[in-house]
Amino acid sequence: MEEQWAAIDTYANGLLVDQDEALRNAAGASREAGLPEIAVSPGQGKFLHLLALTNKARRILEIGTFGGYSTIWLARALPPDGLLVTCEREEDFAKKAWARIEAAGVADRVDLRTGKALETLPALEAEGLGPFDLVFVDADKAGIPDYFTWALKLSRPGTVIIVDNVVLEGAVTDATSPNPAVQGVRRFHEMVAAEPRVSATTIQTVGVRGHDGFTYVLVTG
Ligand code: SAM
Repeated sequence: MEEQWAAIDTYANGLLVDQDEALRNAAGASREAGLPEIAVSPGQGKFLHLLALTNKARRILEIGTFGGYSTIWLARALPPDGLLVTCEREEDFAKKAWARIEAAGVADRVDLRTGKALETLPALEAEGLGPFDLVFVDADKAGIPDYFTWALKLSRPGTVIIVDNVVLEGAVTDATSPNPAVQGVRRFHEMVAAEPRVSATTIQTVGVRGHDGFTYVLVTG
């Protein structure tokens, strides 16, 4: 089944998703770092790009830069005076991502902050950088509840918050899982359910990244 999912991604997005050299280069970041594929897929990257265009986003916050692949897709949806702040804990990843962001021609609208997101996010608030129009949460999964809290703080009614990897091959339904990622994703769903200022849905996905999913949160009040 997984082979078919990947074949469909390759077929459909081979036709619909154009990637220039900068994106193709950033897409190779996981392989280069000797890691499994941790960036979003080309289809998901284009989806984020279209979402930012649909929302006419001028300010985007990303938590989890890695190689800059999703950063480039998102930044390319911004107007020339737009701003994307992206947070990355690992200095080495951030350094390499910055080179790719520059090569993609979007460095003028990207502010890459190196350090733990939970230290960067209060600094953004103190600097008055919010509210953001779109927030993409894609760092450590155990931290999702905290990132959601910050995303809300840095939002306004109409902000869209996308939280990636919330299905984890179905592990999300295992209440007894000792995996901190599973517990983070579960706690996040409970928080969203109890939060009157948002409306949300979780969409499962299959494709070149296997079985996973994302939550689309609209800030309503
Ligand atoms: N969004 C990227 C993309 O699709 O191209 C992939 C991001 S990767 C899934 C997650 C990244 O979050 C890793 O580079 C990791 O170092 C970073 N990260 C993990 N914990 C973090 C933290 N506490 N603060 C900031 N970044 C963190």
